Amino acid sequence: MRLIIMGPPGAGKGTQATFIAEKYGIPAISTGDIFRANVSAGTPLGLEARRFMDAGEYVPDEVTNSMVRNRIAENDAATGFLLDGYPRTVAQVAELDGMLSDAGVALDAAVVLTVDPEAIVQRLLHRASIENRADDTEEVIRRRQEIYGEQTAPLIDVYRERGLLVEVDGMGQVDEVTERVLEAISDTGRG
Ligand code: AMP
Repeated sequence: MRLIIMGPPGAGKGTQATFIAEKYGIPAISTGDIFRANVSAGTPLGLEARRFMDAGEYVPDEVTNSMVRNRIAENDAATGFLLDGYPRTVAQVAELDGMLSDAGVALDAAVVLTVDPEAIVQRLLHRASIENRADDTEEVIRRRQEIYGEQTAPLIDVYRERGLLVEVDGMGQVDEVTERVLEAISDTGRG
């Protein structure tokens, strides 16, 4: 099973990704988590990524693409994976297409969590106070939403046109949303 999960920052992608990946026995690969791990470890990749992340901007495609290419080539991703937070730009979609066709595989579905934007901002402010994330100040939260709208929301139509889009209501309890996602994937006949 090869899946991607999309949705604006704060939609609960990461949480859902973990549950869905567990259900299918595939790794959940979060580009945001990989970047954060590199920032914590002080690697050159982390140093490069950090200035973009702290400002709520996207890390440049060339940095992100090669990181994903390496990650999905690892053994645990051989039979499938769930990408959380990638692709995020039209250029990344093309890059992922290339990675998949090189490997002779294809995506099964692109899940998008739809949420109420106001509720999201509240959720992110709450999370910022718990996790103390440098990219979760109110100004950065707004910037991240804006960038999502400009650069990532257009991907929804791309995957819809390919017949891969699985739209799920992301509001409500975590387990309810997980149920909806699993059911929606199963309804496609691929899950
Ligand atoms: P996330 O945890 O998915 O919200 O990602 C946190 C931050 O990591 C984002 O705001 C970006 O700065 C960076 N990031 C994660 N994934 C990508 C991506 N696919 N392309 C560019 N930047 C990314």
